[in-house]
Amino acid sequence: VRTKPHLNIGTMGHVDHGKTTLTAAITKVLAEQGGNNSYVAFDRIDRAPEEIERGITITIAHVEYETATRHYAHVDMPGHADYVKNMITGAAQLDGAVLVVSAQDGAMPQTREHVVLARRIGVEHLVVALNKADLADDEDLLDLVELEVRELLTRYGFDGDAVPVVRVSGLRALEGEPLWTHRILDLLAAVDEHVPIPPRRLDLPFLMPIENVLTITGRGTVVTGAVEQGTLAVGETVEVIGLGPAVTSVATGLETFGKPMERAEAGDNAAVLLRGVKRGEVRRGQVVCLPGSVRPHTRFRADVHVLSAAEGGRRTPFAANYRPQFHFRTSDVVGAVTLAEGIAVVRPGEAAELTVELGLPIAISPGLGFAMREGRLTVAAGTVTEVLD
Ligand code: GDP
Repeated sequence: VRTKPHLNIGTMGHVDHGKTTLTAAITKVLAEQGGNNSYVAFDRIDRAPEEIERGITITIAHVEYETATRHYAHVDMPGHADYVKNMITGAAQLDGAVLVVSAQDGAMPQTREHVVLARRIGVEHLVVALNKADLADDEDLLDLVELEVRELLTRYGFDGDAVPVVRVSGLRALEGEPLWTHRILDLLAAVDEHVPIPPRRLDLPFLMPIENVLTITGRGTVVTGAVEQGTLAVGETVEVIGLGPAVTSVATGLETFGKPMERAEAGDNAAVLLRGVKRGEVRRGQVVCLPGSVRPHTRFRADVHVLSAAEGGRRTPFAANYRPQFHFRTSDVVGAVTLAEGIAVVRPGEAAELTVELGLPIAISPGLGFAMREGRLTVAAGTVTEVLD
């Protein structure tokens, strides 16, 4: 039985700024403190989830640990996987995030890209780990980078003055150096204090975006994901919708982190065993919901922020009929863009109002955040303002 409140957090930031090292360091420092924590080494975090077989459970990219007051599931995206794609999937469910910025390099395009996406996808609470602080010879440099990061956060709609910035060295903490071990504890204290316990949307109908589909020999098909809203008990009827025909089934088993549970609720990372469903009938990008509670849609209106090149976006404008990929939660669907009347093109760095027609229907509602991408380039981050049909 879980006694501490549970939160979902994650690391974000530019490649090589030390996200995975920091994640490993957090687990090591906490494991040394005693209690329920165990050390998860760098190479167990930094690899594609599909390389690791763990049966009916969530992927290894989720590490779990607890502080004195809370239980955390921490998402660290493997370095060689498609980071932003994983971030959208994970970020849709994050209660808060640790933005990792290398003190040596300062904010980089992916730092900005992740901050823009975090804002749009609804990650409201950030704590900054100013990492690689062991490499800075003087405090002035650290002060300067800190100032720059605070300004950046303010520019993108966070309260840059209030966000905690903790100077850490994931690498030195991993090596057991006392000063840097303490800084990891300071960072965790900042997360405990600054990221509030989210209001769980328990009263709304159950909804869980599917992240993975697994087949467990002798048991059937299992879908995994983070529960976005509502609760589900073993034995309840569910519907799997979006992308194609709906499938109706019964949840005959529920697990979290490999442990069986009677009920899954908003905020849980859950595995749901579906009775009588064959593997090919359900897939990533669909959502599990209560029958009739949500409908898939193909047309909607949205507000978007088009990323500039300095934010990791395009260098050139796009025009009407542009057809990028739309990433909502765990889905990834092509869509055609219509621009507002009188607008011929949208330039990098601009805000725009778009009407979108998706190639496949998915579960959307006003307020839902999404990313527009072209290959691995993030073109825009947006919010649904109106569902059309
Ligand atoms: P990620 O891509 O953001 O996950 O970054 P990694 O955790 O893979 O780290 C990238 C590189 O930076 C590795 O060579 C790490 O050893 C190094 N690194 C990470 N954290 C620190 C740190 O605090 N200090 C120093 N000096 N190097 C670090």
